[in-house]
Amino acid sequence: MENLMEKIISLSKRRGFVFQSSEIYGGFSSCYDYGPLGVELKNNIKKAWWSEMTRFHEGIVGLDASILMSPKVWEASGHLTAGFADELVECKKCHHRFKKDLLEKNKCSDCGGDLTVPKKFNLMMKTFAGPVEDEATVTYLRAETCQGIYMNFLNVMQSMRLKIPFGIAQIGKAFRNEITPKDFIFRTREFEQMEMQWFCNPKDADKLFEYWLKERINWYLKLGIKKENIRVKETPKKELAHYAKRAVDIEYKFPFGWKEIEGVHNRGDWDLSNHAKHSGQNLKYEDPSSAGASAGKYYPYIIETSAGVDRSLFTFLCESYQEVRGGRTETTESAKEIEVVLKLHKSLAPIKVAVLPLVKNKPEITKKAQDIYSTLKIHFVCQYDEVGSIGRRYRRQDEVATPYCITVDFDTLEKDDVTLRDRDTMKQERVEIKGLADYLKAKLEK
Ligand code: ATP
Repeated sequence: MENLMEKIISLSKRRGFVFQSSEIYGGFSSCYDYGPLGVELKNNIKKAWWSEMTRFHEGIVGLDASILMSPKVWEASGHLTAGFADELVECKKCHHRFKKDLLEKNKCSDCGGDLTVPKKFNLMMKTFAGPVEDEATVTYLRAETCQGIYMNFLNVMQSMRLKIPFGIAQIGKAFRNEITPKDFIFRTREFEQMEMQWFCNPKDADKLFEYWLKERINWYLKLGIKKENIRVKETPKKELAHYAKRAVDIEYKFPFGWKEIEGVHNRGDWDLSNHAKHSGQNLKYEDPSSAGASAGKYYPYIIETSAGVDRSLFTFLCESYQEVRGGRTETTESAKEIEVVLKLHKSLAPIKVAVLPLVKNKPEITKKAQDIYSTLKIHFVCQYDEVGSIGRRYRRQDEVATPYCITVDFDTLEKDDVTLRDRDTMKQERVEIKGLADYLKAKLEK
């Protein structure tokens, strides 16, 4: 679709999905705020991932580690050294910095000035934990959530009496001082990750890698991403990060090209053996069947699935945005206009049900509609709307993906039933008010 990116950015702002951070002060580069519908959508994505990991799969437990950690974690993980740095050049005239590998010429692309020699620029965001700003209080906002999981490997395993293989899942914010944040919420300096670390016997790691890669692709397909818009990209051996034995990117076909939405990595025993070395703690797993024999003690391998909440949300918006010219809704006024329908999976839709009185100047009808709204809103995210023609109101709901609209009309007063309209088929059916919540629940779960 032409200008899909602009259309999504505009819809996001107009309908309360995503706003620019600090907008009244001119915005704050690369930071975004999720509005009322955005936060519902984001929560639904996280819920879908969390249920998938901790309920539908066996052997995965949750964790919520703190964002600030001992700086020793980041020294050990390699984030403070060359492992987590970009090569940058700076313009001697305007002092703009550029990623070296993205520059086409040896001059500043903004002002034509001469450039410095490349310097490593660390992506970790520095801060101080404590009242005095000195070297002793320096710490960092975490650049990935997984380190919190490695820190708690023993705590979780022992407190939950887990045996290998098992997984730890976590959702949380991460921060990277990205040099070139861009493409709306695709690359930002503050973002959220959904990571699962699967601890396993090294001999099973290759097989499990394939398993998790397939499972993760299926998750996107189940939630409505078309097969042709998703693909995998294997990272060549010589480009692998220092910790990785194998890395595959799951990519989505964004309006600006194929880009990574999730990484599946075989991290080997790098993390646990390295943290054991730096902390002096024993992080080896002891196979209970080996009865103390040294052959039964080993560092588990880790298969990691690392997805971005914001990138997933962007992916679902791109995938579900559709335009239909005229005639979708019931009013003639809309016949020539382009109608936007966001065909999000029902489980992701921010508003599940809209309650609409057919007219707003008949108190019997509006009162009945408000009563229905009050009952339903305990069960689902609902919206009550009485403003504008019924066709226009249907369209407002289609645009934000609401799967069902309920219309309260004159027949309702006599028969105690309502019209239920389906976003995708636009079919309408009469449903009794008694049992309406259960009926909707069953439809939403289908
Ligand atoms: P990229 O190559 O796009 O910078 P990456 O390989 O550095 O991504 P990982 O470190 O594997 O990304 O992080 C896992 C996931 O976290 C990514 O697939 C993405 O969904 C999300 N993510 C990483 N960096 C950002 C960012 N700056 N903004 C938004 N999401 C991000």
